[in-house]
Amino acid sequence: MSSNQTPHKLLLATRNKGKIEEFRRILEDIAAGQIELVGLDQFPNLHDVDETGSTFEENALLKAREMCEASGIPAIADDSGLCVDYLNGDPGIFSARWAGSHGDDKANTAKVLASLADVPDEKRSAHFTCVAALALPDGRTHVEEGKFEGWILREPIGDQGFGYDPIFRPDGYSISSAQMSAEEKDAISHRGKSLRAIAPHVINLLNSLG
Ligand code: IMP
Repeated sequence: MSSNQTPHKLLLATRNKGKIEEFRRILEDIAAGQIELVGLDQFPNLHDVDETGSTFEENALLKAREMCEASGIPAIADDSGLCVDYLNGDPGIFSARWAGSHGDDKANTAKVLASLADVPDEKRSAHFTCVAALALPDGRTHVEEGKFEGWILREPIGDQGFGYDPIFRPDGYSISSAQMSAEEKDAISHRGKSLRAIAPHVINLLNSLG
């Protein structure tokens, strides 16, 4: 993009406030001036996409493609979740609705803690995964994955972040990810990694649209 061109519009295809803040911090940092991030609030008629895929990648692509088609502008989405080794990777793609109702963070974390009540520290390994997906109106897509390794604590601690952050201790740290500043978490998180990996592709692909 030459300096006198207007920035390309990119739709942020999520309603999750925690994610919106992370997307904005990371993408605006990398692509400042080149991309104008547009929220779903500017497209009040768009309805939510059913996450019917069986992997993070399928769900991220579903969301990005459907929101791009419905809005007519390039869209970026992610699908993410917590994978607990002792639970064979659960809650995984069901992380947001693990205890029943969508987005009930307290109930979700309580359910994971209850499932691990008798599990010793050395068997409480887990990771967050995030797949970021970009979809363009001409049908092209790009995906990037990020992982964030850690351990499940015995009780919630900290009030930053969202979701399972209060029960997740990043590997090599003595605090939960809900006790980290936004910048500290972005630097090592699954979403930070996948967004930093996809950002140069987003810029190149948007510029290729002319
Ligand atoms: P999604 O909106 O379908 O991607 O669901 C993601 C769910 O995974 C969230 O609602 C959280 O429960 C969990 N999750 C994903 N990323 C994080 C994170 O960075 N911290 C805590 N929980 C997360």
